Amino acid sequence: AGSLSGRLALVTGAASGIGKAVCELFSKEGAVVIGVGLGDVSGVISSLKERFDEKHLSVAVNVSQNKQVEDLVKEICKKYSRPPCIVVNCAGITRDALMVKMSEEEFDDVIDVNLKGTFLVTKHVAAELIKSKVRNASIINIASIVGKTGNIGQTNYSASKAGVVSLTKSAALELSRYNIRCNAVLPGFIETNMTQKIPHNIKEKVKAMIPLGHFGQPEDVARTCLFLASEQSCYITAAAIEVSGGLGT
Ligand code: NAD
Repeated sequence: AGSLSGRLALVTGAASGIGKAVCELFSKEGAVVIGVGLGDVSGVISSLKERFDEKHLSVAVNVSQNKQVEDLVKEICKKYSRPPCIVVNCAGITRDALMVKMSEEEFDDVIDVNLKGTFLVTKHVAAELIKSKVRNASIINIASIVGKTGNIGQTNYSASKAGVVSLTKSAALELSRYNIRCNAVLPGFIETNMTQKIPHNIKEKVKAMIPLGHFGQPEDVARTCLFLASEQSCYITAAAIEVSGGLGT
């Protein structure tokens, strides 16, 4: 049996990139995975079902919509007779622009998905965990190294991710009495859809700043999430772990 054998894991942003890699690794480690995305999550889940077993589930939910998140968590509790004891908040977007050119909408959209979405999922799952008396849970929030360093063109995104780190620490303090751990992961530059659109010359400049000398892969972040989800990390809460090859130190 894997290190997450029989545990119920909710993963947002599951259709691609880091979220998809988390779903695959958690499934391999024996978890029952509920993958949440904007509508196209069925692909990753059906491939999990084929390769592992039938138990996984995919749901189309916009994490920035309170009602959708609340209903999702209620339905999961009904279907599985328990709330998920592992959550990975991975849904995220960028809307890059220099600050003086950034629209109010570009600012709000990023805060809504990255920060409010993380709040809503964490809040509704934590409420059910407390109610159901599940006392061994791990919530993992995907922030970013730019939440610490800042980044040109990302006033919205970097602020949302600094917010995610701070939210994670406050939630950890509130939930530690229930043995619900909350930690943030700060990826550096990971090769996914999100970073694919960045121009080649900028990518090369970033690469030159990475101490380990190469970009990260979604699986690099997924392995850190597995550590934080498993009992290996049972004494870690309110932490912010950088997975950046040394970028942003
Ligand atoms: P990605 O674009 O492949 O994944 C993001 C996923 O979130 C997509 O599947 C998308 O459909 C989903 N999503 C977007 N808005 C949503 C919403 N409102 N509700 C539900 N799902 C929604 O990119 P990724 O790189 O895998 O990003 C995953 C997370 O990692 C994000 O939070 C991102 O900010 C963070 N991150 C990525 C990098 C990187 O270099 N790629 C670095 C630091 C942090």
